[in-house]
Amino acid sequence: MSLKIKINEHYSSLKKNYLFSEIAARVGAYSEAHPEAKIVRLGIGDVTLPLSPVVVNAMKKAADEMGQAATFRGYAPDFGYDFLRNAIAAYYGKNGVTVSSGEIFVSDGAKSDVGNIVDILGENEILIPDPVYPVYLDSNLMSGHTVRFLKGNEQNGFLPLPEGLPEKPYIIYLCSPNNPTGAVYSKAQLKIWVDFANQTGSLIIFDSAYEAFIRSDAPHSIYAVEGAKTCAVEICSFSKTAGFTGTRCAWSVFPEALAAGDTKLSALWGRRQATKFNGVPYVVQRAAEAALTEEGIHQCRANIAYYMENARLLAAVLKEKGIWFTGGTDSPYLWLKCPNGMDSWEFFDFLLQKAQLVGTPGAGFGEAGEGYFRLTSFGSREATEEAVRRLNTLL
Ligand code: PLP
Repeated sequence: MSLKIKINEHYSSLKKNYLFSEIAARVGAYSEAHPEAKIVRLGIGDVTLPLSPVVVNAMKKAADEMGQAATFRGYAPDFGYDFLRNAIAAYYGKNGVTVSSGEIFVSDGAKSDVGNIVDILGENEILIPDPVYPVYLDSNLMSGHTVRFLKGNEQNGFLPLPEGLPEKPYIIYLCSPNNPTGAVYSKAQLKIWVDFANQTGSLIIFDSAYEAFIRSDAPHSIYAVEGAKTCAVEICSFSKTAGFTGTRCAWSVFPEALAAGDTKLSALWGRRQATKFNGVPYVVQRAAEAALTEEGIHQCRANIAYYMENARLLAAVLKEKGIWFTGGTDSPYLWLKCPNGMDSWEFFDFLLQKAQLVGTPGAGFGEAGEGYFRLTSFGSREATEEAVRRLNTLL
């Protein structure tokens, strides 16, 4: 017999997430027809290098502590151990930004925080960049919110600004460096957003998951911009910074000064987390702490440098071929305009069939992604070099 309960009908407004399954299906069909083909994947959105030794040693030590009565730990504090909150605050300090440890809330992922923040927000107008990381959109659709898009294009370099927006309060999602476009906001551009948010009473949700890839003088944190503490929450992660995609640790910053009327957002988030989340494992928090030591940063940055050399190689071939692209200098992603007016999936098929290369069609990240294509630098050097050779011959 069928249930007679009401379910969350808003889930029916979600688009089927077919991007990666469609890619897998097309690659699968091609491999079956051409079993000898050596396919090179440039669509990887996950890290591939192992955890740094300093991180692994910290995990082992913490695991030993968990096996001893004297040092065993049960539930972790809801907002993270002080040792990690202090380490994250000190990490901000290294980038010249002051954030206090009490403003930092440790979690098991930026995806969780980005998705869960809708819990503490009411009915608002939502502004979401297009193209962008799909979680911002889907988490709002799940709650029945109406979303308006900030269109990225070649003219604005896929870095939309508030020009022309009616002056009213919004929830504004920004991601810099951006996934999928790799574009990064300058300090002056972020200042425009921060001023707009403060003028209109809007909240910015700033996703800085890729900050560690920044090579230019673009800000690593929105709090490098004056005025951001009264209008912005920042969400960051160890996933790409330290290779923690499978280890799971992240944090959000809710500044003390961030309030809607008399209500501090930090109080709401604290209540939300204490109610629905039971903390990140001690072993993982010790590993995250190790990633932020001098030695940890040094080792993790070596992995990032490896990915960024891959990005440089890919960028060089696109430049040489005169193909418009953004990203690749402050981000592991390169976002290129499909040549010869091809749409995203046409270019996908073209690359697969003519060069056995796999990337990600831009149309899968939003309507404004049509006609564009994402390459990533998370592959091995060998695979990237092979891809560069093939692109050189094909394009
Ligand atoms: N934010 C962006 C922009 C991402 O691209 C990703 C992962 O790909 C995440 C957040 C998720 O991070 P986490 O692994 O901490 O959940």
